Amino acid sequence: METISAHQSVKEQYNILKKDGMSNTFDRAIAQGKRCSFCEQGISCQLCSNGPCRIKPSAERGVCGIDADGMAMRNFMFLNTMGTATYTFHAKTVAKTLKATALGKTPFQIKDEAKLLALAEKFGIKTDKSTKELAIAVADAMMAGINADSDDELSNVLAFAPKQRIEVWRKLGILPGGPLNEVMDAVSSTMTNMDGDYVSLAKKALRLGISCIYGSQIPLEMGQDILFGTPQPHAVNVDLGIIDPAYVNVVANGHEPFIGAALIKTAHEAANQEKAKKAGAKGLRIIGSIETGQELVQRYNIDDVFVGLTGNWLSIEPALATGGIDVFAMDMNCSPPDLGSYQEKYNTSIVSVSKLVNVPGMKDQIIYKPDQAAAQAQKLIDMGIENFKKRKGKATNPSSRKQNAIVGFSAEACISALGGTLEPLLDVIKKGTLKGVVALVSCSTLRDGGQDVNTLKIARELIKRDILVISAGCGNAALQVGGLTTLEAKAEAGPGLKAVCELLKIPPVLSFGTCTDTGRIALLVTAIAEALNVDTKDLPVAVTAPTYMEQKATIDGVFAVAFGLYTHVAPLPPVAGAPRLVKLLTQDIEGLTGGKFAVETDMVEAAKGIEAHIMKKRAALGLPA
Ligand code: SF4
Ligand code: SF4
Repeated sequence: METISAHQSVKEQYNILKKDGMSNTFDRAIAQGKRCSFCEQGISCQLCSNGPCRIKPSAERGVCGIDADGMAMRNFMFLNTMGTATYTFHAKTVAKTLKATALGKTPFQIKDEAKLLALAEKFGIKTDKSTKELAIAVADAMMAGINADSDDELSNVLAFAPKQRIEVWRKLGILPGGPLNEVMDAVSSTMTNMDGDYVSLAKKALRLGISCIYGSQIPLEMGQDILFGTPQPHAVNVDLGIIDPAYVNVVANGHEPFIGAALIKTAHEAANQEKAKKAGAKGLRIIGSIETGQELVQRYNIDDVFVGLTGNWLSIEPALATGGIDVFAMDMNCSPPDLGSYQEKYNTSIVSVSKLVNVPGMKDQIIYKPDQAAAQAQKLIDMGIENFKKRKGKATNPSSRKQNAIVGFSAEACISALGGTLEPLLDVIKKGTLKGVVALVSCSTLRDGGQDVNTLKIARELIKRDILVISAGCGNAALQVGGLTTLEAKAEAGPGLKAVCELLKIPPVLSFGTCTDTGRIALLVTAIAEALNVDTKDLPVAVTAPTYMEQKATIDGVFAVAFGLYTHVAPLPPVAGAPRLVKLLTQDIEGLTGGKFAVETDMVEAAKGIEAHIMKKRAALGLPA
């Protein structure tokens, strides 16, 4: 079994890390060896000083009295609160950036006025205002949604969610309030001796998922579209070969596009290019990494200055091993904590640009502030040029691997690629040329094999079965670098999907966006459900997270189940020691929301399960097999 990576570039860079004796994620994953079975099954707890407690035949409850199901669900709830809090932090930053931009205090502009108008209408804001006034009102409404009381129904849910869903959620008592207060309620519920009932905790998780998507994710992505443009299909370059050490290279890593967008703008200034050349470089380049890179490539064309995306989070250390990165700027989320040790070895400067992010030994912290973004980008570029002067002439390990990818299939772009209406897509689904659609929203993990091995495997299995894949998150980078988001990849699709690809001139995997895009995918699914006049749970669609890793992924998964979708996950989530909870999440919940989790670590079996679900939904709608 491949234990390092599906990507040749990463395997080659891994060999360099090995040769250099560098600590790296791949070796650390092996060093962890077999894991504790209590932790693996979710039945250990060290919340209070009575613990740590473990559930075993001789101790069926923790000291406080909590049982296995309550303990595992409470542990799972922690992950979901972290994910929601982090998405909400991001949403707050978008609202602040939008307001500051309207006031002329940032280097950004209102790029998509139509989306500003659409969001204002959804928020119930009168639109007889100037663009500036409207943007301020929308930013204030975003903040009001984030802060809305958890005792009230969140107006965003009522504005954006499908009507049938709202009724289902109201009946279940999971129609939530604003994400900040829902996080507060959820965290408080998970204290020792607070909520020990796994069913009650599971309902609170569903509530949190709905609040996260409608209160934070959807406004934040729409806000970013307003500021940086709504993604449209275009070709870009990906993989580690985009790093040319002869240039001053500044990398934007994380999940938020603000500093990255400011860097792209500032790096295009002739004076900065000149400065880089004076330092002995061929010029100055900006490079996208993980989700920040994904946000940027989805919205910006590549050129001589912005050159594309390296890959997902497991490609960070291999990218640094090229020795060609001058500044690695980390915004919120997904910067491994050992990067400080890479600075000396690979002649780079690790810099945090978020108050949330810190790695031991990093060179500097320049905390993003909307009204200082231009100066902050300039400072990072100057640091990059200074770094280049020091690393000039030193050995580098460039990669020769470059892959082209078509990106930018936002919901709007999908509809416009279909000629302005969903009809062509619905037609091919109704006829059975296309069996259905799967959203692949995933991280990347080494738990069940090398980087992206399983992600590529399940995507290939799905397209082979005439199922269109929409990709987001680190899973999206997996498929971009793996070559499945190209027009040529239609050769790997089944005959039906291949015909659709040829007809619409699209790849069999539509590169949609980041792990933050679950909300936008939900809007696309909502549009399909409304066009067919059915509930989301009745659609021949599903979700897969074949290599989920962290806490944002779990809340995305919980939302998908609340939304009524069959949601495949791997690796095994830490709930196996809680039989009643497992039954609730994988079986009984279907009777409540219409969705359920399907856990399967064999990707062929997982694809078969997804296909069977899609065929069941097709039959129920009276569509041909
Ligand atoms: S909260 Fe309960 S199960 Fe957890 S450590 Fe304390 S006593 Fe043990
Ligand atoms: S998909 Fe997961 S691992 Fe990847 S950047 Fe997002 S949160 Fe991090």
